[in-house]
Amino acid sequence: MKNFDIIILGCGAAGAMCALTCKNKNFAVIDVATKPAKKLLVTGNGRCNLTNTNVNSSFYNTDIDNYLKRFNNNQTLDFFENLGLETYADEEGRVYPISNSAKSVVDVISQKLNPANLFLGQKIVSVKKENGGFVVETDKDVFKSTKLVVTTGGNSFPILDDLGAKYDKFTASLVALKAKNTRDLNGIKLSDVKVTVKNKFGTKSEVGEVLFKEEGVSGIVIFNLSTLFSRNKDFSGKIEIDLLPKLSEKEIFAKLIKRKNLAVYGDKFFVGMFQNAVANEIFKQAKINTNKTVKEFSDEEIDKMTKTIKNLSFDVFGRYENNQVFSGGVKLEDLTQNLESKQIKNLFFCGEIVDVDGVCGGYNLQWAWTSGHIVGENL
Ligand SMILES: Cc1cc2nc3c(=O)[nH]c(=O)nc-3n(C[C@H](O)[C@H](O)[C@H](O)COP(=O)(O)OP(=O)(O)OC[C@H]3O[C@@H](n4cnc5c(N)ncnc54)[C@H](O)[C@@H]3O)c2cc1C
Repeated sequence: MKNFDIIILGCGAAGAMCALTCKNKNFAVIDVATKPAKKLLVTGNGRCNLTNTNVNSSFYNTDIDNYLKRFNNNQTLDFFENLGLETYADEEGRVYPISNSAKSVVDVISQKLNPANLFLGQKIVSVKKENGGFVVETDKDVFKSTKLVVTTGGNSFPILDDLGAKYDKFTASLVALKAKNTRDLNGIKLSDVKVTVKNKFGTKSEVGEVLFKEEGVSGIVIFNLSTLFSRNKDFSGKIEIDLLPKLSEKEIFAKLIKRKNLAVYGDKFFVGMFQNAVANEIFKQAKINTNKTVKEFSDEEIDKMTKTIKNLSFDVFGRYENNQVFSGGVKLEDLTQNLESKQIKNLFFCGEIVDVDGVCGGYNLQWAWTSGHIVGENL
């Protein structure tokens, strides 16, 4: 049995930050991965979007302003700069290493961590609260400590169940949505469209890019809007796409009336305006018979096409497997300001295991840095 004052379960973003800021050096970090913060390598498409220049609670499912006041995006940048990481922000405020390689982030973290604290390549198999402390069993060893930090990421329900900790069920979030009748649009990318998702819990919109898949829709806008489904644990509803959000219905109607002088055949009505597959989808949803000349389109048909352009709609029925984060976890209201469990003393949580999830753009890693730093400093 190995004895420590503190055990940190997980050496992902939050666990690594916690270890880097932990003042009491008598700690062990345990992870099944063989390298620290290894998961960061796949983030931001291999570039690691580590934070954003604009971070506040509006980008998250819950109010984290009090935590951001203690460690925000600017402090994160200072922290990483002190580790030697050079970064830049793109036009959306997304921050990346200037090497454009997530490995740079992993490297600066790894070279600062003391190998003596690291117990990697070990799978945690059980965690118990025993005699005023914690006992962690891995597939290789047994560890004991007075304080325990759990940073094993989203969907860590077995560890939470072992500890008897209260948490909200995990649901995959930031996912591509499965929707009916998208097959004919498979591979089509729409830019600068306004996407609205609706379900019985509410409505959410965002402007940007949508990518059609065989059985649904993907893209950053869709990932962000998927939170309306994941946070409510119900993946049924509607997705509506305004193909020309900058134009009013009246303006589009006038434009279409003018187009009656252009093409001859009905099915060529949108040539030069929309991709073929999109035009066909508009005809289908507006129930337009294109087997006639353009001049034969009635005002009523032009009106129906106008309304469809403003509202191309699909029924959402599920989600794709690969998600970026999980909604759910230990609720902030069950934790103190230092992220210690109110239910179990000396037990701390940080990172995705806490019920804080943000949209795409560096917000989830920012929460990992913020929460990891707060816990590390206060152990
Ligand atoms: C493909 C992808 C791309 C992403 N891109 C971005 C991005 O660019 N920007 C952004 O802000 N967010 C991004 N995210 C989200 C971000 O990666 C997470 O929010 C963040 O990693 C959470 O940090 P964490 O430390 O809480 O958990 P994790 O990083 O998941 O770390 C948990 C650690 O615990 C270990 N662990 C878990 N269970 C056990 C066990 N039983 N035994 C031993 N070890 C265990 C794991 O090996 C892991 O190292 C992305 C996510 C994915 C999946």
